[in-house]
Amino acid sequence: MTNDKHPIVDLRSDTVTKPTPRMRRAMAEAEVGDDVYGEDPTIRRLEETAAEMLKMEAAIYLPSGTMGNQVALHVHCRPGREVVVEARSHIMNYEMAAMAALSGLLPNPVYTEGGIMTAEQVEASCRPDIYYLARTGLVALENTHNMVGGRVMQLDRVREIQDVTRRARIALHLDGARIFNAAASLGVPVHEAAAGFDSVMFCLSKGLGAPVGSMLCASKGFIVEARRVRKMFGGGMRQAGIIAAAGLVALEDHVDRISEDHDTARKLADELSEVPGVEVPFYPESNILMCRITDQWFQKDLPEDGDAASVFVDRLRERGILALAINSRQVRMVTHFDLPENAVGRTINAVTSGR
Ligand SMILES: *Cc1c(COP(=O)(O)O)cnc(C)c1O
Repeated sequence: MTNDKHPIVDLRSDTVTKPTPRMRRAMAEAEVGDDVYGEDPTIRRLEETAAEMLKMEAAIYLPSGTMGNQVALHVHCRPGREVVVEARSHIMNYEMAAMAALSGLLPNPVYTEGGIMTAEQVEASCRPDIYYLARTGLVALENTHNMVGGRVMQLDRVREIQDVTRRARIALHLDGARIFNAAASLGVPVHEAAAGFDSVMFCLSKGLGAPVGSMLCASKGFIVEARRVRKMFGGGMRQAGIIAAAGLVALEDHVDRISEDHDTARKLADELSEVPGVEVPFYPESNILMCRITDQWFQKDLPEDGDAASVFVDRLRERGILALAINSRQVRMVTHFDLPENAVGRTINAVTSGR
């Protein structure tokens, strides 16, 4: 079903993009040095650019978003502290229990309907100062929220939570893996989405399209400490300007176009929800679309209980479309700049003909 004229439509994630020709050129020509000695000029330029864009004092380049979050948690908290997070957050669910394994921290999950915590919920989850309770070391937010379908946290909600953490003198971290999607969806410059946080992690390797890398932004003192922890976690890299060069191109070329991915996701949602048996519970607010596959989709043979999403994904794969089964009923599709032409039309064809 796929060939040069009909390349695979890979909607599994926005991490599947390949480096653009401009990135390849920048990588080939990058000035490099040993970054563990602080001597890689390309990495320095990337770190300065990221800090400027987020209007934070300093930034550090890391090999992954997971390492960025975990370095931040380690710098913020002593062992034995709790970390308040939303129950479906990446930090708690998809980082290999690293906060416990690497930093001796315990997540304190907040259960929400749509993935967006209220200030009241955060306040109620921060422990009062009583001798038999662990101390709350950190609150971490996620914007956009990956597992609830790329939902965007509105900035007035963020400000309300910031009032709570400031009053309680608890540090606040943002898992902003997709902060540029959040900012585009909110219609604000990225520094407004980053304002008021003690630390912000964002990924160059998601919607921005770089092959590798994430940034952690914070105060100068915090980043000095983060450099030590990054080395301890094995993330000290040498002539990594080779990959940082692509990150710089990502920030130059791909920030302004990111809302195109949101338009594509909404178009896909509009057309998918017309197909019998496919429900779109949340209209996409960014580049992630979650859909629910009901029994009605299966015209011929109803699969075993619990297999709807995986059978749906298999039928799509046979037709050259890749998507991700999240659980027995839910399928995730993520839009990005590397989708072939007419990706939406071909996906809808596959969803219709695969029934
Ligand atoms: C992708 C992602 C990360 C980091 O993932 P890595 O694969 O380690 O780069 C962190 N948080 C969220 C919300 C993500 O989607």
